[in-house]
Amino acid sequence: MANVFAFVETRGTDVRKVGLEAVTAARMLADKSGGGEVHALLLGPPGIAAKASQIGQYGADVIIVVEHAGLANYSPEVATATAADRMKSGSYRAAIFSTSAQGRDLAPRVAARLGVSIVTDVLSLEIEGDSIVVRHPMNIGKVIATIAIAAKPAVIAMRPNVIAPAQNEKAGRVEKAQPAIDPASARVKVIETRQGGGGKLDLAEAPVVIAGGRGLKAAENFKLVEDLAAAFGNAAVGATRAVTDDGWRPHSDQIGQTGRLVSPQLYIAVGISGAVQHLAGMRTSNTIVAVNRDKDAPIFKVADYGIVGDLFEVIPALTEAVREAKKHH
Ligand SMILES: Cc1cc2nc3c(=O)[nH]c(=O)nc-3n(C[C@H](O)[C@H](O)[C@H](O)COP(=O)(O)OP(=O)(O)OC[C@H]3O[C@@H](n4cnc5c(N)ncnc54)[C@H](O)[C@@H]3O)c2cc1C
Repeated sequence: MANVFAFVETRGTDVRKVGLEAVTAARMLADKSGGGEVHALLLGPPGIAAKASQIGQYGADVIIVVEHAGLANYSPEVATATAADRMKSGSYRAAIFSTSAQGRDLAPRVAARLGVSIVTDVLSLEIEGDSIVVRHPMNIGKVIATIAIAAKPAVIAMRPNVIAPAQNEKAGRVEKAQPAIDPASARVKVIETRQGGGGKLDLAEAPVVIAGGRGLKAAENFKLVEDLAAAFGNAAVGATRAVTDDGWRPHSDQIGQTGRLVSPQLYIAVGISGAVQHLAGMRTSNTIVAVNRDKDAPIFKVADYGIVGDLFEVIPALTEAVREAKKHH
């Protein structure tokens, strides 16, 4: 039996889906270890306390609420010090973060502050004996390593979207706390956070991702990809580096080794060859569909469904088919 700590990621007074994923992962781990408690840290500006009951619904036994006017934006120093202090004061088996943009910054800082082990970009986690056993992609996703972490506490950052947030109501006792350092004294201040994609679905969180490559031939042809995404209604648009380097799409849309990591339920690759650097960012997607006119394109090696054909014919037909199917649901 062991207690598990979860960091709940927020944006303003909203809890992010990756925050609920962290609580769900922590709950699973606590239950698998014989029923320890989940202690979730919720940091944010005034108003964030109202979200504590939601965190309880997802399986937190204790919600540590740190409300402060200086926390309207993510503060690396305050979040690190507050999470690390809390972890020191409890005997946690593990601490769960997300490998989101914020989690990539925060989790290593916390691990370094405490001098403990960290594994990022984790795809799954289990308990085996005294170890937590996690799966983690290496060599740009060509190899999936299985790592047994014996050290305590283990800092684990989950890949977004690999665990669906699951309701599992617990008492959700609220403990109010202060930030470990005064936000006004922080040397690094996030002045503003701008969301890419005009406020549309976040690439890392969308259940469906439609990504376009150089096969689209020109920036304006991304309209085909956007129309298909709109037909789904719950899809985000991504791109290859060839496309973002050419300025057809913003760099924030790039998926791959040097871009975003995505793991949606459905990934549709449109005119993408499937270079290893691209696969590194999407090969853990649940179902992969590829549309390419070259039957030997490497993308077909990872695809569950392949359509060999001209995307300029296939995508409009697919969009129409999705629209029709949605009408009847
Ligand atoms: C250090 C490093 C890091 C990198 N990081 C990334 C990364 O993070 N993400 C990333 O994506 N890339 C990355 N790259 C680049 C990567 O190697 C590839 O160059 C890039 O992914 C190729 O993009 P693409 O598939 O759009 O283009 P291409 O490889 O040119 O493929 C275009 C595909 O479209 C098909 N096609 C053409 N016309 C049609 C049509 N009418 N209908 C259907 N299919 C059609 C072609 O058959 C072809 O397969 C990186 C490279 C390096 C060296």
